[in-house]
Amino acid sequence: MKIASVIVDVPAKQTDRSYDYLIPAEWIDTIQPGMRVIVPFGPRKIQGFVTEIKAESEFKKLREICEPMDLKPVLNQELLEIGDWLTENTLCFKINAFQAMLPAALKAKYEKKVKLSLGVKATELPIQLQELFKDEDAILWDDALKLGLVPMLQREASKGHLEVIHIVKGKLKKKFLKVVTPLLPSADLEEELNNLPVRAEKQKEVLRYFVKNPEPIELRHLLTVLNISAATVKVLVEKGLLSEQDMETYRDPYENRSFTRTEPLPLTADQQRAIEPILGSIENKLHHVFLLYGVTGSGKTEIYLQSIQDVIEKGREAIVLVPEIALTPQMVNRFKGRFGNLVAVMHSGLSAGEKYDEWRKIQRKEVKVVVGARSAIFAPFENLGIIIIDEEHETSYKQEEMPRYHAREVAIERAQKNNCPVVLGSATPALESFARAQKGVYKLLSLPNRMNQRALPAVEIIDMREELRAGNRSMFSRKLFELLKERIERKEQSVLFLNKRGHSSFVMCRDCGYVMNCPNCDISLTYHRVREQMKCHYCGYDSHVPNQCPECSSDYIRYFGTGTQKVEDELGKILPEAKVVRMDVDTTGQKGSHERLLKEFHEGKADILLGTQMIAKGLDFPNITLVGVLSADTMLHLPDFRSSEKTFQLLTQVSGRAGRHELPGEVIIQTYTPEHYSVELAGTQDFDLFYNREMMMRKAHHYPPFYYLALITISHEQLMNVVSATEKIAAFVRSRLSNQAVVLGPAASPIPRIKNRYRYHCLIKYKREPELTKTLKTILDQYQADPKSGLLVSIDVNPFILM
Ligand code: ADP
Ligand code: ZN
Ligand code: ZN
Repeated sequence: MKIASVIVDVPAKQTDRSYDYLIPAEWIDTIQPGMRVIVPFGPRKIQGFVTEIKAESEFKKLREICEPMDLKPVLNQELLEIGDWLTENTLCFKINAFQAMLPAALKAKYEKKVKLSLGVKATELPIQLQELFKDEDAILWDDALKLGLVPMLQREASKGHLEVIHIVKGKLKKKFLKVVTPLLPSADLEEELNNLPVRAEKQKEVLRYFVKNPEPIELRHLLTVLNISAATVKVLVEKGLLSEQDMETYRDPYENRSFTRTEPLPLTADQQRAIEPILGSIENKLHHVFLLYGVTGSGKTEIYLQSIQDVIEKGREAIVLVPEIALTPQMVNRFKGRFGNLVAVMHSGLSAGEKYDEWRKIQRKEVKVVVGARSAIFAPFENLGIIIIDEEHETSYKQEEMPRYHAREVAIERAQKNNCPVVLGSATPALESFARAQKGVYKLLSLPNRMNQRALPAVEIIDMREELRAGNRSMFSRKLFELLKERIERKEQSVLFLNKRGHSSFVMCRDCGYVMNCPNCDISLTYHRVREQMKCHYCGYDSHVPNQCPECSSDYIRYFGTGTQKVEDELGKILPEAKVVRMDVDTTGQKGSHERLLKEFHEGKADILLGTQMIAKGLDFPNITLVGVLSADTMLHLPDFRSSEKTFQLLTQVSGRAGRHELPGEVIIQTYTPEHYSVELAGTQDFDLFYNREMMMRKAHHYPPFYYLALITISHEQLMNVVSATEKIAAFVRSRLSNQAVVLGPAASPIPRIKNRYRYHCLIKYKREPELTKTLKTILDQYQADPKSGLLVSIDVNPFILM
């Protein structure tokens, strides 16, 4: 008798344990740990994951598994264990952990087929199967089940003759774009210019554009580039000069693209020194975490590439994590260029089907390297030789929904199991990481110089309070305006950077830069428009909104924030001759538009690239000689204890965008608080000094890396219920922890109400609390066990966004 332990797909407290099922005789040789199965559960049939096969069960009456869903396990033994680890460390349900490790295409709603593997002929199969695959290379899974063929199919699958595929149904809706094409050759268009009415300046501008750029262009872009309306284009279409068509878009982004092969470069002495310990760790199969600390352009990627090469030569595999936003074609090219078809790429720009294809390449062992965003950390490799996390300080490595994991922690866990190194790379490491390197927990490897000894760009900090005093109320300082003009005349390009506004606003004095902080928590107070109040959302402290600045008595104190649209409008007024490409969530919502806008800018079709943080990374164009940061303060005063760190990282990163090639670069940072150390030190790009200053602040206010954090968020439709539940929970936590721990709250969340549910939270700061996990689990058990209460409780251990 064989019994399978199964985790069922019901994410709830009561079902968060394994259930035993009998394996029917016909499936005994089929079912293995890591496979998905269909099991009876109450009156229903549901999906589950087999975690273990055993001979006995403590339960007497067991029900039988209905059928397997896979021919091969989708989770290997190591990933099953990682599932346990995630459950324990992030307090999620085990089913959440397993689901998070698989591509979306493996989750229901997809049609399942058994298919002949590439290059295999039907005649290579047993006689019984030949008939089925004679005319078609794939049969429906349901048919195979009905015919009782699964065990035989599985044997063929283990020989590599067959595989199971999931076809995404109905999801592949085609998308269309409006594209404008000139109907006449350039010379004729030029002639047509004279036939247009004298006053039709806009129409002329369009024609002149096409005289210079005869290729088709997306209508939307034409409108932005020329700052015209669709009506102008329409008139020209009616005159028979242009055509407007719908064009189907989006192919596989890497299809039809050839990658120039690159060879390993001879390493510099600095690089040699940095790579040796990594190679040693690979050679001796010893797990270490390395922090590769070096400015952009110092040659980190070359070290990644050569370490991976070593790993591949030893028959092992590599995972490279890159922040989603930096996963640009430029980045992918470097890996594909070195390792060609051995590389799989995983990022959110791919469709569910494309992602699944990349995942299968890994599962079928066709690739040795995966380059991807956060979830690529779960790539089903079996013999990992290295894990690399580039820009390791990026907050996007933390998942904000269940399971709330940080990819860095998962990487370390997997690398320990595989006896291989983790390499964390950054020019501005997370404070936590640098502190661990200082303590020797991580090994610090430094690349102090830029590759070509090219100087970092000159950074000038502009005090916007001075501008105001001089009567300039515009969002552009006089200096930035001058430089922008100069670039346009010299036909060089500029990047304007606007920090993303947080979910909440702060109040700032525009005369002196004063921002109201919480006296207890040293984070800025959040402005609540409805109640006209300032609140600390860590501890609940509140205060009324000042009419006058408490520092300088100015009346010019108000809440702060500007959108990219507004900047674009103002640019249109003060520099009407400038062609602007705007990149933010509004203009890059569509797949591929990010790349397209960048390409336009790269081809010199615009003078100014204006955007939010998405333009901070990866941008490496020779013609950019000016970077302007419009307001360094918006991020500095987010109600988040990491706001100084984030500001420093971001300013350093955007500054690095200028002057990366022959032309020297200039950087202008506009701010109302030039004396703040994260602004000042970003100006001199001095991470070490910043680190020391920031560590002092963190120590004084009991923040990481000196303390750990856990955030409990409670929501309910009734305000009274949330408040009283949060009070109860906070009191319970206080009673269970030592007096070394600090329990803050209840306080309203910075987003105090979402979808009609009020949200309160309680923040725990602690050093060592052996009882904490148990305490948090008790809280979850209690509230998750009682759905009638209507309370939702979520817990984030090591939260990154305290919203
Ligand atoms: P990072 O990843 O730190 O930003 P890169 O690895 O991209 O740095 O290196 C910056 C530039 O220097 C790249 O153009 C790269 O090709 C080049 N480079 C890196 N290592 C070497 C080397 N050893 N010799 C010559 N050029 C190098
Ligand atoms: Zn003031
Ligand atoms: Zn506070």
